[in-house]
Amino acid sequence: MEEFSTITETRNYLSEFLANGKSIGFVPTMGALHAGHLSLISRSKSENDLTVCSIFVNPTQFNNKEDLQNYPRTMARDAVVLREAGCDLLFAPSATEMYPEGESAGLALDFGKLDKVMEGKFRPGHFSGVATIVDKLLAIVKPTRAYFGKKDFQQLTIIRHMVKTLDIPVEIVASEIVREPDGLAMSSRNMRLTIAERNIAPKIYQVLAKLKEKSGKVPVPELREWAMKKIREVPEFRLDYLEIGDNESLQPVSNWSHKSRAMAFIAVFLGDVRLIDNIELFL
Ligand code: AMP
Repeated sequence: MEEFSTITETRNYLSEFLANGKSIGFVPTMGALHAGHLSLISRSKSENDLTVCSIFVNPTQFNNKEDLQNYPRTMARDAVVLREAGCDLLFAPSATEMYPEGESAGLALDFGKLDKVMEGKFRPGHFSGVATIVDKLLAIVKPTRAYFGKKDFQQLTIIRHMVKTLDIPVEIVASEIVREPDGLAMSSRNMRLTIAERNIAPKIYQVLAKLKEKSGKVPVPELREWAMKKIREVPEFRLDYLEIGDNESLQPVSNWSHKSRAMAFIAVFLGDVRLIDNIELFL
């Protein structure tokens, strides 16, 4: 596996593959890799000639300084894991490599209503930071396909929107959420949970799974109230949002008239760790 920290090295190395018409699969990450990330790597490997992974804890998408400082960083281990997974190139730049003009230089795209809800509402500026870094990384790697997890469903939707708006020539591939055996969605942030918190965390998915079971049988507002109550019954949780929304517009729905598109989304603090998850209700 090649390991580069500069844009020039990465571009130079990949230009030969591009010139020879090889397909490049790209998996952008913030590191602290787990089986969720590796599922994207393995899918990319099966669908492309070459797989590139980036590891960059992007400062511009953190609206909270402490969250950025506390974000887990396990670079040495990540490189070993990627090598074992058969990744061909790891691009791990510094913040100054990615933002030579300073971190305030960002994309100001109009996402319409997509970033006015959920993560966009609770983390101001987050998606502008995400769009900026993903746009820059796509311009460096020029992948045939880029892989994103449904774990960050709103992010996936916003990236699809950006790629369409800016006519970026890449296929966006969405991959299923990888969960721990007890249902907890895998996340780099899970590493920061205490043992007691880790034991409580699966309750998030248990509530989503129950919500799915009840979907269509109970009116939407009632079901949402029920699920919020279940989360609030656990004193260690602090709920940011629980929404039942449309998988295209991401806007809240009030009835089951387009039920095949209905999803539930949640963000909850457990201690100082913020966890997100979602579930497709009728698929
Ligand atoms: P991150 O390193 O958290 O920015 O995630 C990098 C990519 O991995 C994003 O496309 C995420 O949606 C995806 N990802 C993170 N966790 C999971 C998971 N549990 N299952 C599937 N994909 C995931």
